[in-house]
Formats: sequence, C-alpha cells, structure tokens
Amino acid sequence: MEGGPSRPRSVNPMEDIEHIEKPLKLIDENGIRLDGRKFDELRPVRIEAGVLKKADGSAYLEWGNNKVLAAVYGPREAHPRHLQNPTKALVQCRYNMAPFSVTDRKRPGPDRRSVEISKVISEAFAAVVFAEQFPRTSVDIFIEVLQADAGTRCAGLTAASVALADAGIPMRDLVTACASGKIGGRVVLDLNKDEDNFGDADCPMAIVPRTGEIVLLQMDGHLSLDEFDEAMNLSIGAARRIYEIQRDALRRRYAPSAEAALAAAAVEAQAPPPPMEAPPPPPPEDPDVMREVDDL
Ligand code: UDP
Repeated sequence: MEGGPSRPRSVNPMEDIEHIEKPLKLIDENGIRLDGRKFDELRPVRIEAGVLKKADGSAYLEWGNNKVLAAVYGPREAHPRHLQNPTKALVQCRYNMAPFSVTDRKRPGPDRRSVEISKVISEAFAAVVFAEQFPRTSVDIFIEVLQADAGTRCAGLTAASVALADAGIPMRDLVTACASGKIGGRVVLDLNKDEDNFGDADCPMAIVPRTGEIVLLQMDGHLSLDEFDEAMNLSIGAARRIYEIQRDALRRRYAPSAEAALAAAAVEAQAPPPPMEAPPPPPPEDPDVMREVDDL
C-alpha cells in the first residue's frame, strides 16, 4: 500500500533534541559544537535602538535564536510613593518571557525565575546609572523575551542597556552581558538551549566594559577554578565585541539626526549676516534740561 506524503526529515540535527533522552555529544573531537560553532564563537548578535515610539527608550535584539524587546521609562515620579528614595532614583526591572517564547507554552505571569532575573538585572544597572541626580524618581526597565534559546538574561540585559542609553539616562557606561559554560568537559562561550540543557555548567556575567567591573555573575553547575578563569576570559572578550555592536546600534540611531544638526549649522554659518539696522534717531532735546545744564 502506498502511504501518503511522508513528513520531510528534519535537516537540522537540533530540531528534535527536546525528545532525545540521553545527551548528545555536544562537542566533537575537533572542538566543533552541534550548531557548527567553535568553542569561542558567539552566536550572531544584532541590535536596533529606538524601535518603540511610546517608550522613552527602546531596543530590539536578536542573539542567535533569542529575540528580545527592551523598553525604558523615566526618570519619572516613583509610585507607590512610599517606595520613593529622597536621595536617589530607583532602578527597577521587569523581565518577562512571552508564553509563546518557548516550545512548551510558558505559563504567563511572574515566577521565581523571572523575579530572580529581574532582581539581578536591576542591581547590575543600579551600579552604572547616576541615580543620585534624580531623587524620588524611578527608572523602569521592561524586558520582553519573544523567543528564547538560552542566554536570555544576557540578551535582555544587553538590549536594556541600549534602551537606557536611547532614553538618555545618564550612566557611567553601557553594561554588556555574555555567558560561558562547560559542555562535554570543555569550556565554551555562549551556550544555546541544548548546550544549556545537557551541558555541565553555565555562567552568565555582565561587565562595565570601560572599567572592567563585573556587575552580574551567576553560576549554574560546577567549574574548577581554572575552568572558571577560562570561562571569564571568554565572556570578557565576547562582551567587548558585543559592546561595539551596542555602540553601533546607538550610532545608527543618532547619526542621522546629528548629521542633520551639523548640516543645518553649516548652512547657517554660510548664510550672509543679516543687514545692520540703522541706529535710532536721537531724542529731541528738552530746552528746559538744556537750560539747567547751561546754568551749571
Ligand atoms: N526555558 C524554558 N521555559 C522556562 C524557562 C526557561 O523553556 O520556563 C528555556 C529558555 O529557552 C531559556 C533556557 O531555558 O532561555 C535557559 O534558561 P535559564 O534559566 O538558564 O536562563 P537564560 O539562560 O535564558 O538566561
């Protein structure tokens, strides 16, 4: 008997990984990972700044198969009022994963994981925002994960950093995040979902590139001290590359308006000066005053 049209076999070896019970070999003898990357290779990162009209600042980021939107409001009056700090602004973050962002629908609303991620991201930004300049206010950061493939806290933080700069929030520097971890006994950069699920360790971190200060550091799994050093070096190197992508997104967003302002200034400088106005005629002389002057 002839069967109906058979379902084409997936050409992507990653596609059916969720149904495999035993971990696959995540990295081969040549150091090549399941998605073809080398141990120190980052997934492609793309950032657009200023994508939302209603927010004060925003950014959209794609990082491999992660898709993230970040929006920023503020500094604005903090509500409820009892939370206001008379000496500085609150830096508040809400990280949220859309129900459709993962293969198994995620239950909407906050859970322990999203509360934890929101907290660590708020703390990372509190270290760079000049909060003392805006007492009693709050800077509100919203991160919406539209599609998740591991590393979403790093992706969300990196996008939020661009959104904060887009909103004009004064900061010491951008914050840049990246994770490293261990799969198949090897330390690698930027784990994807399958590597995160079946790997040995995942260590997300965020740095302030200008100073090298670490403002977020977490660890899931185990790394020896040497492996940890190796992972940190990989993440710091990658963060410096991502920093350039963040800056480039902001340049693309603001270069056209900066160019327009410079062009307008140049046109103004070349225009001939306006004609000088004739001085007003002197007031008619008051004969009484003149007489008083003559009497002196
Ligand atoms: N994940 C999921 N359902 C959830 C939470 C997470 O499928 O409810 C997936 C998602 O792809 C996420 C990954 O697990 O990116 C790793 O999650 P983790 O908690 O390690 O945070 P992340 O690496 O995204 O910062």
